[in-house]
Amino acid sequence: MTAETPITTLIFDVDDTLYDVSTGFTDHRNGEAAQRFMMEYLNFPDLESAKKIRDQYFEKYHATAKALTIAEQDGAFPPPDPTKPTKVPRFDPKDLADYWTSNLDFRLLGGKKIKLLQDLESCGLKLVAFSNGPRRYVKRVLVELGLFNVFGDERLYAVDDVLPFCKPEKEAFEKIFADVGVRADECVMIEDSMKNIKRANELGMKTVLVIGKGRMKNCKRSGAICVEDTGESTNTRDAPDMDDPAVDFVVETVDELRQKIPGLWASPAIFMPTE
Ligand SMILES: [Mg+2]
Repeated sequence: MTAETPITTLIFDVDDTLYDVSTGFTDHRNGEAAQRFMMEYLNFPDLESAKKIRDQYFEKYHATAKALTIAEQDGAFPPPDPTKPTKVPRFDPKDLADYWTSNLDFRLLGGKKIKLLQDLESCGLKLVAFSNGPRRYVKRVLVELGLFNVFGDERLYAVDDVLPFCKPEKEAFEKIFADVGVRADECVMIEDSMKNIKRANELGMKTVLVIGKGRMKNCKRSGAICVEDTGESTNTRDAPDMDDPAVDFVVETVDELRQKIPGLWASPAIFMPTE
């Protein structure tokens, strides 16, 4: 870690990073809500068969929109309902974005994050949101959290903006570096997903792993990983691992950032955690 490199940009994941994993919102979205979408739009007969395909492809492709795109190409969908008009391709990421935006219970997010908003507003750095979710959905989440205006449309990158790539593919990150006009080593990635943290580190970014409220005590710095419920991770391979050398710093929630890494609020900003 080169503490001297001035930092210009903070790049935030959104789901399970800007809100806490314990809200249950991610389980709600990736669980029953995604499965109901697959029943309604893709003719899956029941929740279980939808879950099986969604989880199998999500593990490999890291975003539900990309997972369903590839699942269709692989012929993993049940035959279409002959009584309904069928489009080609049958899965359109816009349908998923619309479905999530209108059907999810956004109250689970717990409302606006006033203190985090104040922290971010007083931070002199470029602030970027980078999600593997569909744009309309991600924007709605940021609006519900009261954080949309700190990013705005121009600093919000969703899966639609980087397809056919998505995190953790390097092309997705590189698109953002080019667009924002920064080098990787001036950026800090704030993330809950290990696979994205590892790629960010490989590319030369500083990394902050967000593990979830109250979880520090359960994650020993002894090589053990957190194997309790891990939000978007459908398996323990993506579970938070505080000892992974790709992790520069660990917080339970983003609310701690300012207190734990005050150098990011200094001018020039430096990545120098308090521990
Ligand atoms: Mg996430």
